[in-house]
Amino acid sequence: MEKWPVGVFASIDAGLGVKLEVVRDLGIKTIQLHTPHKESRTQEKANEFLKKLADYGITITAVFCGFEGESYASIKITAETVGLVPKATRAERIVETKEIADFAKLLGVAAVGLHIGFVPHDKNDPDYPGIVAMVREICEYLKRNGQRLHLETGQEPADTLLEFIADVGTDNLFINFDPANLILYGIGNPISDLKKVGHKVRSVHCKDGTATKGTPGVDWGREVPFGTGEVGAEQFLRTLKEVGYDGPLTIEREIPEEPERQKAEIGQALKLINDLKAKIWGS
Ligand code: MG
Repeated sequence: MEKWPVGVFASIDAGLGVKLEVVRDLGIKTIQLHTPHKESRTQEKANEFLKKLADYGITITAVFCGFEGESYASIKITAETVGLVPKATRAERIVETKEIADFAKLLGVAAVGLHIGFVPHDKNDPDYPGIVAMVREICEYLKRNGQRLHLETGQEPADTLLEFIADVGTDNLFINFDPANLILYGIGNPISDLKKVGHKVRSVHCKDGTATKGTPGVDWGREVPFGTGEVGAEQFLRTLKEVGYDGPLTIEREIPEEPERQKAEIGQALKLINDLKAKIWGS
């Protein structure tokens, strides 16, 4: 199998990813799909979508959950609105996560990705056991579907994330490693964290960023095109190889308000990754 097949984060009718036609035009063969709206998650739509993917020669490597009402406007608002941790929406989003997993199954996809939200860094936090139990329940549901859950990195330090995965204790809980998030959230270092959690990484976002000049953990860093920020693209890919990761490299560049620029920057990231692949694997 091809090592590091390049992919891109894509959307059908919801989310910040690029449209399928853009993926096709760029010659990219894998995508992570942002989950479509509820009314599109049907067998009929899945078949329609699979036919289009087959025509374009594109494979879905993961379906990513997204929920109404999520906002990344600031780190504080992200903590309040994103994923399964916020209490006001927790129950309904657990149900929806299972529905999204079932839709992914209709698409033949074995990996479901998710920002669960901010897991308390202190295990003595009264909310911690409930979050562990919730993720265990979801993992057990996915397991019956023959699926894995991939947690998006960014909100937790590497050690907290590894302890959380151990506390959940199922064998289908892994990591979607997003190196830029560690910089954007001001929570870690992409290279040293990857060395720590590499054995749990089953999918990757190629995204880049620069750290905030304000207060880390309070003010956002800035997302920039892959290869132009503080991740260090070559060292990142070399470290992926070192930890034994040879799965998809999925480019994430979320500027849907500027589709032309988005397409151009994804094209540049694609070229950079292909050049680095050749250099690193010597092909
Ligand atoms: Mg990401």
